Order: sequence, then structure tokens, then C-alpha cells
Amino acid sequence: MYIPYGRQYIDDKDIEAVVEVLKSDYLTTGPKVLEFEKRVADYVGAKYAVAVNSGTAALHIACLAAGIKEGDEVITSPITFAASSNCVLYCGGTPVFADIDGDTYNINPEEIEKKITDKTKAIIPVHYTGQPCDMDRITELARKHNLLVIEDAAHALGASYNDKRIGSMSDMTCFSFHPVKPITTGEGGMVVTNEEELYKKLLLFRSHGITRDDELMTENQGGWYYQQLELGYNYRITDISCALGLSQMDKLEGFLERRQEIADTYNQAFSYVKGIKIPTQTRVARSGWHLYMIWVEPSRRKEIFDGLRKLGIGVNVHYIPVYKHPYYQNNGYLNCCCENAEKFYKGAISLPIHPSLTEEQQKYVIDKVIELVG
Ligand SMILES: *Cc1c(COP(=O)(O)O)cnc(C)c1O
Repeated sequence: MYIPYGRQYIDDKDIEAVVEVLKSDYLTTGPKVLEFEKRVADYVGAKYAVAVNSGTAALHIACLAAGIKEGDEVITSPITFAASSNCVLYCGGTPVFADIDGDTYNINPEEIEKKITDKTKAIIPVHYTGQPCDMDRITELARKHNLLVIEDAAHALGASYNDKRIGSMSDMTCFSFHPVKPITTGEGGMVVTNEEELYKKLLLFRSHGITRDDELMTENQGGWYYQQLELGYNYRITDISCALGLSQMDKLEGFLERRQEIADTYNQAFSYVKGIKIPTQTRVARSGWHLYMIWVEPSRRKEIFDGLRKLGIGVNVHYIPVYKHPYYQNNGYLNCCCENAEKFYKGAISLPIHPSLTEEQQKYVIDKVIELVG
């Protein structure tokens, strides 16, 4: 038996939806892409959506649409997947890491404020584990200093903050549809926005910087005509993927409820266990519960982690502070230090949480964690 920390949930309806597209006229850039974009935009409460072939591509075109370039600084969290800051590097910009809050593990607005300079152009808050960041404070800072906010909501589709869904609030919000994420398209991602100008730029960057839109072109020589206006990419997503995404959207609320149930069960089981710190939840937020973390004494983390792996429990550590990776160390981040992030990393263990985790599996995980910590 092996219990992974995360995995997809696929049923017959998903399979039928994909097969239907395979028999249709369009495998890519067809009706399912638009339908999926509209479905997600309506669900999160955004006007526009651009689906792409990964969450990383979503972050990249969001940074391009934001105009991030050499000399610009973008503030993000060190406790995230490397894509949250790599997207800034792709554009020639400089990621700046602001420390996390020691309780929620999300980026701390006070720390963001300390890092703002006259070069700062944007903030990329990451809703770590699916729990929304302090968006009121982050939005206030962005307004005050004239910065764009690009949310990395790879963990947070369906999460909400003060009754507003993640995706409805900032300049741009990026989602991922990798198999472990809230819903899957195999590989895939999306940027949502409420601003038409950003939407048009996102469309350009998704597909080579090429357009047929008369309003954007400098001239139109005829029905065959198109122009490349920007240096874009091929980040298009297939109709096959989007059909899967649409079918997964039907199940999203159920997935989120199941994740909440699993988190509640873990919280109950561990809240009085000495040696385990359970994740703090703020009252203003509904979490997507993409991850469930426990924090243990750093001196014991490796022994507990190895013990659980040996028992077939696919524990993980999310995340190594991004600037600690050799690439970052070798490219200017040698003296970078976020104290809370480093402390958190040393004791963190993520336990299995996903919609297909059974009650028996969860009970097994809980028993083994308590045995090993005790
Ligand atoms: C998964 C993830 C990404 C990247 O998404 P992909 O679809 O794998 O490219 C970005 N940021 C965070 C926080 C993630 O967890």
C-alpha cells in the first residue's frame, strides 16, 4: 500500500467528456477552451479568463502582461513552489522574498512593506495550502505604492476571503490544474482578470504574440492577414484538457467539502498531541485545503518523515525556501534569509489530503503519525 500526499480524482464522466472531444473536429483551440474559461471565470467571479497549458505558463504571461522587465522587482513568498518566482526571472525581473507569518505560513504584509522600493512593480501573494493571504492589507499596500497584484492561487481554486472567491479581487489571479491541484486537466493553468486591457495582452502572450484583431493590428491587408505584435509563446491548452477541466468543475464543490472534512479530522486527532503543531486557520478565509501540514520539532522531523515513508505514507515537505535552491544561491540570493520561512521549513511535514483518500487510509495515517511522534 502507498498513500500519496495528493492525487487526482477521475470518474467515468470525466472519461466520457474527454472521449467526446477526441471524436470531434477540434482537439485544440476549439469550443471547449472558451467554455472552460467562461465556467471558471463565472465561478470565481472574474470577467475574463485565459486558459494555458500550465500554472507556470499562467504566471509567466501574467508577469508579461504586467510589463515586468529587467530592473523591476516583484515581491513574493519564499514558502512556495519555485514557479512563483521563476516567472519573474523569465521576464528579466528580480524576485524579492518577504518572510511568512509564523502561524498561517502565508506571506506577511508587514514584511512586504519592508521590501518595497522604487523598483517594486508587483506583489505575487501565494495562497499557501489554499488558505487566502491577508488580501485586505496586500491590496492596501498595492494601492498605496501603485503596484500590481498577481495572485498565485495554484492551491486556492474555490477558496474565499471575506465571502469573495479568490480570483475576483486582484489585477490577475493564476490557477494550476496539475493532477494534485483542486481540479485537474492533466497539465493546465489559467489567468483570470477583470481588466480588458490585461485580458487582451494575456491572449497575445499565450499564442506567439500574434493577433487577427483589427483593433490591435497596425493595418489589415485581407482575410489571410495577422500580425505578431509581441514576443509571445505557444502556451495554448487543448480542448481535450479543457473538456476534462469542465467535467472536473462539476465536482469541485464536492472535492472542497471532502478536503475540509479530512482537514477537520486531522485537526481533531492532532490538536492535543504534544509535539505536533496543526496549521492555524484565520476566520476570514475559506481554505481550499490543497495541503495539510503538521509542524514537528526540527530535530525529529527526518526520523518522523522517514518512518512514515517506510510505512507507505507519501508524506512530503512543502516547501524548501525557494532562495535556498542552488540556482538562486548562485544568482544573488546567498545572503537572503527569511527567518520564519527557514524555521517553518525545518519542521514541516505534509500529510496525505485529496478527495480519493479513504477514511481507513486517513485513520492509518493518523495512528502512525501519533505513534512516531509520541
Ligand atoms: C503547482 C504550482 C505552480 C505551478 O503550476 P504548474 O501547473 O505545475 O505549472 C505554481 N505555484 C504553486 C504555488 C504551485 O503549487
